[in-house]
Amino acid sequence: MAFTCTYQFDTAVYKGAVTFPTQLFINGEFVDPVNKGTIDLINPATCKAIARVSVGDREDIEVAAQAARTAFKEHWGLKVSGEARSKLLHKLADLVDANTDQIAALEALNVGKTFHAAKAIDLPTIGSLLRYYAGWADKIQGKSIQTTPDKIGFTRHEPIGVVGAIVPWNFPLSTLIMKLAPALACGNTIVAKPSEFTPLSALFLCTLIREAGFPPGVVNIVPGYGDTAGQAVGESMIIDKVAFTGSTLTGRKIMEAAARSNLKKISLELGGKSPSIIFDDADVDQAVKWAINGIFMNQGEICVAGSRIYVQAGIYDDFLQKFTESAQCLSVGDPFSPDTFQGPQISERQFERVMDYIKSGQAEGATLRLGGKRFGTEGYFIQPTVFTDCTPNMKIVQEEIFGPVAAIMKFSAEEEVIEQANNSTYGLACSVYTKDIDRAMRVASNIEAGTAWVNFSNWPDLGLPFGGFKQSGIGRDLGEYALENYTNIKAVHINIGIKI
Ligand code: NAD
Repeated sequence: MAFTCTYQFDTAVYKGAVTFPTQLFINGEFVDPVNKGTIDLINPATCKAIARVSVGDREDIEVAAQAARTAFKEHWGLKVSGEARSKLLHKLADLVDANTDQIAALEALNVGKTFHAAKAIDLPTIGSLLRYYAGWADKIQGKSIQTTPDKIGFTRHEPIGVVGAIVPWNFPLSTLIMKLAPALACGNTIVAKPSEFTPLSALFLCTLIREAGFPPGVVNIVPGYGDTAGQAVGESMIIDKVAFTGSTLTGRKIMEAAARSNLKKISLELGGKSPSIIFDDADVDQAVKWAINGIFMNQGEICVAGSRIYVQAGIYDDFLQKFTESAQCLSVGDPFSPDTFQGPQISERQFERVMDYIKSGQAEGATLRLGGKRFGTEGYFIQPTVFTDCTPNMKIVQEEIFGPVAAIMKFSAEEEVIEQANNSTYGLACSVYTKDIDRAMRVASNIEAGTAWVNFSNWPDLGLPFGGFKQSGIGRDLGEYALENYTNIKAVHINIGIKI
């Protein structure tokens, strides 16, 4: 069985056919799954099938893990210099850049995100991530630690071995590269499981991995369902570490599977319910633009979405009017149209989930100021939605919606808003808008979140760590900090005078 995905992109932006294998990528080859499983991928803008892709099962994960283990021992790990790893990562970055339109089109088609956002945000991030960690590959160093005169002590930062990477559907390729680039730079091999909804860009990447010249087995990509292939990654005795991005619920399962199996190391990037806090002295027009972007970009399907918006009483009316007008002007529709800001939600399940939250907001007494309905007649589109009169215990204030739904609340005092913002099981990010630097520093340091943006939002930086406090995660992606996820530290003691 050799499935190929062929799709004619009939748009003004991108015209051409994409043909590449959509089987599992194991040991440098595209192969059929042991149990011959398949999944039909749906274009969320039309609800029509776009491709049939192989799905791997537990057995395939074990085959891929074994290939990764062999590659680690024979062609990668401590066998290859940092410089050689760096060159391959640079080559892959060049190939990604050369295929920007194709990959952006696949993301738009499969996820429903807009083509121009994929091209302007996802793709440059992917190239930069590969180059950033290519730069680290020959700089993974320990320390010399002098403790006593008759001993030389130093540390080595060694690769962990086989890394399992499990990623979600909202930023399919960039979340994958966020794991793959540092893991490979540090000398690990990979078994990656993309989301069952969005494996196309990862499969296309496999063709580039081959072209770049990575040895077979260094990168293995096995699309599959979470409760089978994903669960198998968590439970595998061959895999030494799991790097995960996804929901808190799944993160918990992975932690349990890791504990039950070989106590593999884990790093978890999980959900969020990020507060945007706008003080009276903020530049209101700028705050409106950032807050709009904060909640509505990528259809609201973004872990750092500023879904709780706290506005100080003095500017509340002005902010609300401008925010609602801006939200009303957001163009919803065809992800390939250059004028579209918001595409469809990823799937019927996600569409229903968001609509249920909208119903619960109304049932619990919040005021629906804008939107709240399906947009159009085909596809999983939802109108940009704005609630006011929200109270702390409402589901739309407490739970991650992962859709274009903003909950706006009024506050009076700084202490009050800090308490409300911290009244969450999540702690991924926050943004604070004020011209008072003292207040900005105070609030940013008092909010329980892994990232605090002052006077902007939703702008991770490749050089700065990214991750969550509380139930938003364990460990950090991005920057030098991410290298800690992919190295084991060995202390070497050399006796230069101790006698017995
Ligand atoms: P999800 O947890 O349902 O799925 C994520 C991945 O885990 C998928 O590949 C899925 O197949 C897999 N999976 C599911 N069950 C599994 C299991 N038992 N064992 C192993 N793997 C399993 O999440 P999603 O719906 O794909 O993505 C949305 C979630 O991801 C949101 O909660 C969002 O906040 C989070 N997210 C977090 C970040 C971050 O950096 N913190 C970034 C993007 C998305």
